[in-house]
Amino acid sequence: MAELKNPLELYKLLKKSNCGECRVPSCMAFAVAVVQGQKTLADCPYLDEDTVAAVGGRVVRHKSFAEEQVKSLQDLQQKIRSTDFAAAAGRLGATLAGGRLAIPCLGKEFLIAPDGTMASPCHVNFWVHYPLLNYVLRCQGAVLTGEWIGMGELKEGGDWDQFFSHRVEEAMRQLADAHTELFFEMLEVFGAGPLAGGSSADYSLVLRPLPKVPFLLNYWAQEEGIDSKLNILFDRSASRNIDPGSIFYLGGGLVEMFRQLIVRHSRDGKLF
Ligand code: SF4
Repeated sequence: MAELKNPLELYKLLKKSNCGECRVPSCMAFAVAVVQGQKTLADCPYLDEDTVAAVGGRVVRHKSFAEEQVKSLQDLQQKIRSTDFAAAAGRLGATLAGGRLAIPCLGKEFLIAPDGTMASPCHVNFWVHYPLLNYVLRCQGAVLTGEWIGMGELKEGGDWDQFFSHRVEEAMRQLADAHTELFFEMLEVFGAGPLAGGSSADYSLVLRPLPKVPFLLNYWAQEEGIDSKLNILFDRSASRNIDPGSIFYLGGGLVEMFRQLIVRHSRDGKLF
């Protein structure tokens, strides 16, 4: 029997009255809820039993984002189990601490156990756990070149360029515009320091989310009809030490962390 994955295929079977008796607002929303596993076909009282029996077993439930995250972490944790931490520490810029890898990240130490679980003085979430495990598995220990390039120039970075620009650079630009002083103070608290040799930007700070993958954050404030601008660059060696997806998650994690800190520490407790 053919699998049924597309909500549109389910929608064709429904009454299309949008009556809401299934407790979602429309038949289309119901079809989506079924493939996401939040509803079953039997929740629509207008589908006859024969249809429910015939079609129900063909529905392939999509994984939720949270489920995808759990699966991704489990896959990486499985691979970490066969990593020799003692041999890996040097190439990662990490140290060994009681059998765990201690990786400096944003001015704190994150401890990775041989089973891939992670502990730190900060809140551990997917945004930092996933990239750190990937870093352990992928980092070749490539030496920094001193040449800064954009996400699109990294190996396979083209697939992530737009996401990164929208979800990370643009989100940070908005935070920097609205809370300039606080935003750059927070970066310094996380260990960011000025770019050696300076740059044309109003602020140019080097941040180290991972020991061998520095981020260069450049910000130009708005002036006389010219919009502000923020970009994040990476050392050309980054492709040999991490994958662009992990860089995206690290950047997204930074945005979320800055948002929470701004709400907590800004004068009026508002983001914008
Ligand atoms: S109960 Fe059935 S017909 Fe009514 S909105 Fe839900 S899916 Fe559509």
